Amino acid sequence: MLVKCKCCARKIEKDSAYKIEHITKSGNKSNYYYCSKDEYESNEKEKDFYKKCQYTTDRILGEKCCDNSRNKKLSELHEKGYTYEEIYQCVSDLEKNLDSAIANKWNEFTSSYNKIAYIFGAINKEIDNYKGKVIKTNEVETVEEIQEYRGRRNVTRSNKPTLMDIIKGASNG
Ligand SMILES: [Zn+2]
Repeated sequence: MLVKCKCCARKIEKDSAYKIEHITKSGNKSNYYYCSKDEYESNEKEKDFYKKCQYTTDRILGEKCCDNSRNKKLSELHEKGYTYEEIYQCVSDLEKNLDSAIANKWNEFTSSYNKIAYIFGAINKEIDNYKGKVIKTNEVETVEEIQEYRGRRNVTRSNKPTLMDIIKGASNG
């Protein structure tokens, strides 16, 4: 019997599929099927990084993004072939390089849509530097840690312009 992989939607043999049990809304036990355990785990990891991208962009915005604009930008990047892990690393570095200058700049924007466009403009310029980078497990903040995070600074400086330099450059000219 064939079942559909919940991740890639491929039709797979039920007997050889990786199975995850869950409780349906009506309270019954049911299964999700995946091509393999690896596929399931990397799918879960990506879901986790997606959430982290949301938390981190919220923190940069200084408010919870209530409309769909940020999520749309995230999906657009994902559709271009970047993993949420790569996007998260880029967003996370952007946040680490934030300073009060940019925080003040936020006041000039009349809507969070403008801020989002600004943030994702910066991400789009930098994201290729994160392609193929994988975060070591012990370097990844948990969702709880990330919610607690307040302006920790542990950035190694290099001569390479940071996202913040790019933003400042863009705002100056
Ligand atoms: Zn699959």
